Amino acid sequence: MLVIKAPTAGFCMGVSLAVNKLDKALERTKGKNLYTLGPIIHNPRVVREYEAKGAQCLEDHRLAAAGSTVVIRAHGLPRALEEDLRRHGLNVVDATCPKVKAAQMGIKKAQAAGLGKLLLFGEKDHPEVRGLLSYAGDDALVFSNLDDLRALPLRPDQPCFAAAQTTQDKNAFADVLDYLKHFLHRPPSVLNTICDATMDRQNDVLELTRKTRSMVIVGGLNSGNTRRLADISRQLGIFTVHCESSTDLPLRRLKDLQPVGLTAGASTPDAHIRAVEKILLEG
Ligand code: SF4
Repeated sequence: MLVIKAPTAGFCMGVSLAVNKLDKALERTKGKNLYTLGPIIHNPRVVREYEAKGAQCLEDHRLAAAGSTVVIRAHGLPRALEEDLRRHGLNVVDATCPKVKAAQMGIKKAQAAGLGKLLLFGEKDHPEVRGLLSYAGDDALVFSNLDDLRALPLRPDQPCFAAAQTTQDKNAFADVLDYLKHFLHRPPSVLNTICDATMDRQNDVLELTRKTRSMVIVGGLNSGNTRRLADISRQLGIFTVHCESSTDLPLRRLKDLQPVGLTAGASTPDAHIRAVEKILLEG
């Protein structure tokens, strides 16, 4: 098959840093009493590979014995949980992505400066979003689209500031800001929290859809940034497959829709992308 691959497919800086920190912790501990709090990144295959090496994924740090090493996932943690972790006698390795950390600190600063209520554009059950919200105290509203935003109990005279989950679609956030500009008496301050890695990957998908008739997007089905790449492609009417591995590929259909675009979410290792690319090229 004729395949055109996006130059940005695969690990971003934050994910590379997080897995490097976990690799170093594995070397140090030889996998003994080593945990990640939640999946280190949103890629079930990667999490299984690390579990096989000895880094177990825990949902509750109280299950780890004192003296254990706990690695904080790339998405970060809610403030109180992170503080509790440090009080619990654990060796904490903070693998929070620097961009997520910057978003947490930006929200904390804006809240302390009295900019008002945080309006956060994101998926309310996403771990990163739960972390970001915790830095705004109780004064925050979260929404994942314009309809959600319109339904919020928000008064036009309410002082507000706006931010987005780091992996949100920049065009959708621009629409949100446009709505708020007209709805609120005073336009909100805006924190620039969408990361370049996300924007670059989204731009590459847009570029690829101009040259291809179908798209394969490799990455965790639970990965928000990967799902959004697939959404962008589908919204443009392109036949789109979001898969975690080469076994999920509808090869016959893709063969009829060449050239095939290939990209991957920011939490997809190169080896997984190469395996899919190989099957497509041979198909
Ligand atoms: S996509 Fe951006 S915010 Fe998310 S882990 Fe990667 S660099 Fe960090």
